[in-house]
Amino acid sequence: MSYLFAPPAVVSVPVMGLTEGFPVHRIYCVGRNYEEHAKEMGFTGREPPFFFLKPADAVVVAVPGQITSVPYPTLTNNLHHEIELVVAIGTGGSNILAADAHKHIYGYAVGLDMTRRDLQNDMKKQGRPWCIGKAFDHSAPMGPITPAAQVPNINQAEIALKVNGKDRQRSNVSRLIWNVAETIEQLSAAWTLQPGDLIFTGTPEGVAAVVRDDLLAGSVQGLEPIEVRLA
Ligand code: MN
Repeated sequence: MSYLFAPPAVVSVPVMGLTEGFPVHRIYCVGRNYEEHAKEMGFTGREPPFFFLKPADAVVVAVPGQITSVPYPTLTNNLHHEIELVVAIGTGGSNILAADAHKHIYGYAVGLDMTRRDLQNDMKKQGRPWCIGKAFDHSAPMGPITPAAQVPNINQAEIALKVNGKDRQRSNVSRLIWNVAETIEQLSAAWTLQPGDLIFTGTPEGVAAVVRDDLLAGSVQGLEPIEVRLA
């Protein structure tokens, strides 16, 4: 098969300790999955998880030990950070039970669900899709993937984000409303998961605006931390 123009490059995330990259298929994201964040967004209680997507090429790989430049996006005056645990799916499937979810997980990474909050809020008010607020270019900076077997305590890991050296978000993965296994159960009932899918599992409280030149340092205990500067 020949093509009219060069097909898009495969988006790939490095894997710790391997030369092979993790080829990205889709990026699923979970909304409002920590109670205190749901409250700060004006919601309370445990509601069924809901999902949105980002394009695979929204990924910006943050190289360990380096500060990775990420462009400040267009059209916004209120760009928010959302630090998240990212799950990398290695084995696909549909209608996966929470008890079997671990068999489908390749590994984990630290990610930022960057959000044009002003545009997202405008769309919410009008009952329109959030795409412009969430699924823009460079909206998914993330670190390399650590294979699951190397982080057996990931479900009790501290998750944190500092901006210019000061704490903005600090919580624990154990506080997820829908834990990783339950999220995979719910997500795989709606879509057939494929190897290469990434799941941004939701952000804890403390989301706020960042501006050009801010340095964002994100971490999840046991995973490679990331450092991103907005350019
Ligand atoms: Mn998020």
